[in-house]
Amino acid sequence: MTAALQITELRKQYPTGPEALKGVSLTIEPGEFFGLLGPNGAGKSTLIHCTTGLASPSSGAIEVFGHDAIDHYGKARQLVGLAPQDLNLDHFLTLEETLDFHGGYFGMPKKERKERAAELLDAFSLTAKRKERTRTLSGGMKRRLILARALMHRPELLILDEPTAGVDVELRLELWQYVQRINQEGTTILLTTHYLEEAEQLCSRIAFINGGEIVAEGTSPELARTYGVSSLEDAYLELVGRKELSRASMAEISS
Ligand code: ADP
Ligand code: MG
Repeated sequence: MTAALQITELRKQYPTGPEALKGVSLTIEPGEFFGLLGPNGAGKSTLIHCTTGLASPSSGAIEVFGHDAIDHYGKARQLVGLAPQDLNLDHFLTLEETLDFHGGYFGMPKKERKERAAELLDAFSLTAKRKERTRTLSGGMKRRLILARALMHRPELLILDEPTAGVDVELRLELWQYVQRINQEGTTILLTTHYLEEAEQLCSRIAFINGGEIVAEGTSPELARTYGVSSLEDAYLELVGRKELSRASMAEISS
């Protein structure tokens, strides 16, 4: 079976910065809900940007459903939808235009764009706002529109880069529901987060990334076992070298 995403020995040296990825290899199978978990600066967004053409890798290979995503990337781009970490909406476009233009970039015919935009605005409870400019939206609405935009061209692989950073509890739960449903309907998902409970709730498999390297991979219980601890949280604290912060140690201190 062809992997949904196959990353091989990926390296990225920013001209003005650190080596953000130091030979990352990763395979995500079709239908998986995969979590990439790591602290700020670990290289999560860099990996995503290399996969989606926003950054060019220094070396290594990336394939999306068997299609090269670096040099001959046409087909690979069609298959991927990205909801970026930054709220990169054009403030002067209406919600409808935002989705319509995106569909246009991906070569969708006008009629199909119209129907798909209406369907997504409805699914994300944004229909009443469709004629307004995106700058008038609340943060939560912007997050939903960004997710709708990522889904506009019906990607097989949906990439969510910290979709719930700074999002309140209700919206977070709502977004979790949406993405779980999309996954159940067959879309493969790559999610990056530094929220442990998010990875635990949503992801069937998780990789820990730290300092530009994948250091462990597995289900949440497997990761705990790898580190000889009893929870994903404790495994993560081992990863970042802060096991003194584990709940067990805290309980000892306060008793
Ligand atoms: P994460 O998404 O896990 O927080 P990033 O991929 O954004 O991590 O960053 C990884 C490392 O690369 C960090 O040290 C960051 O400062 C650096 N970095 C990210 N983007 C750039 C850039 N455009 N130029 C130079 N350095 C960068
Ligand atoms: Mg990031």
